[in-house]
Amino acid sequence: MIQAPRGTYDVLPEDADRRELLETHVRRILGAAGFRRVETPTFESTELFARGVGEATDIVQKEMYSFDDGGGRSLTLRPEGTAPVCRAYIEHGMHKLPQPVKLWYLSSFFRSEAPQRGRYRQFWQVGAEVIGASGPDADAELIVVLSELLGALGVKDVRLRLASLGSPETRNEYRGELTTYLREHEDGLSSEVRARIELNPMRAFDASDPRTQETMRGAPKLMDRLAADDAEHFAQVRVLLEDAGIPYELDTTLVRGLDYYTRTLFEFTSEALGAQSGVAGGGRYDRLIEQLGGPATPASGWAAGVERMLLAAGGLPTAPELVDLFVARAAHSDDVDRTAFELAREARRAGMAAQLELTGRSLKGQLKQAHRLGARYVAIVADRTHASLKNMESGEQHELQPQDVIPTILRGSRL
Ligand code: ATP
Ligand code: MG
Repeated sequence: MIQAPRGTYDVLPEDADRRELLETHVRRILGAAGFRRVETPTFESTELFARGVGEATDIVQKEMYSFDDGGGRSLTLRPEGTAPVCRAYIEHGMHKLPQPVKLWYLSSFFRSEAPQRGRYRQFWQVGAEVIGASGPDADAELIVVLSELLGALGVKDVRLRLASLGSPETRNEYRGELTTYLREHEDGLSSEVRARIELNPMRAFDASDPRTQETMRGAPKLMDRLAADDAEHFAQVRVLLEDAGIPYELDTTLVRGLDYYTRTLFEFTSEALGAQSGVAGGGRYDRLIEQLGGPATPASGWAAGVERMLLAAGGLPTAPELVDLFVARAAHSDDVDRTAFELAREARRAGMAAQLELTGRSLKGQLKQAHRLGARYVAIVADRTHASLKNMESGEQHELQPQDVIPTILRGSRL
């Protein structure tokens, strides 16, 4: 038996309903804040992610699905959305548009990781990017709309952790200081962290090993080393969030998997999720567009995991599709079939949700099916000129011509 590949899943109709509802909230909340939708290709040049996400990141080191396009070029199934959106911004000269350009996406992404609850190899993210604005208000606004979205979806027990990474220069200097600290405390580090001191010392804060965590408590913190303008920017983000009534915790050890962040960095987690607690994350990435070959352009954004939002939201209520008319057949003949088919088609043209009996059920079975679907009316076609219309709520039924079925329903007349 052939099954879906490990780490993937099928979106069945009930799941699709919840996703549609999620999308409705996304459209409403981001649309009202001036964001417009963008979609980029499912795969890109591998180079885009190597440069845009960072060679030292987990994503680039071990999570990408890369393949040869047959002509010797390496392509990669997109593992994240920010680098592709920036690539599109540059490619389409969006810096010539009035700034900032505010974009959102809802797409699937691919990472080769060990599958578990809330962690898949193909998953979906909603993302939002504000490109061409450098101020703290852009960051705060992004966090506010994200918080609103999580609230609208009913994502439970959320926590917001907030940090600032400062500039790459500050980070470089700090990196040296941290590396020295790690070297001096190698005995207190796990072998995995020790092996990565040079490659990515910041990740030591992320380690799950308790001894390493203990050692990192005494490590110098980047947020204590911020340059004056970065510190001022961050202070303003905090003021705006406090004004907006959004609670957050400062996290001096917040590290995220991507290399391109500058200044503001944040993550929403939900206690409702257990181990894979990250619901959404984002931050400012002022150097990315330049790094990808575009003009120096400040930008900020976030991405939220669709599966995790749905998991943490518990049961998002979905309304079952309404059926106005179910078209049943009293008998089977060419005439009946064609009349019934035409009736269902016309009902839809008149704006109704109409379903036609498509299996060979008995009349009793057809009425049962109409009841299961919650149909308001059932039309039973007897032949080309005879039908009866049953109001499923009142149980009333009367005879009429097939062509009078729709006008009768539209008039809402009591049968
Ligand atoms: P994690 O620490 O859980 O691996 P991450 O830092 O890799 O998360 P990001 O790259 O910031 O995640 O992606 C943003 C969001 O996308 C996450 O907060 C999470 O909700 C979701 N996400 C990331 N990876 C996966 C995955 N493999 N399956 C499902 N959702 C994911
Ligand atoms: Mg990850």
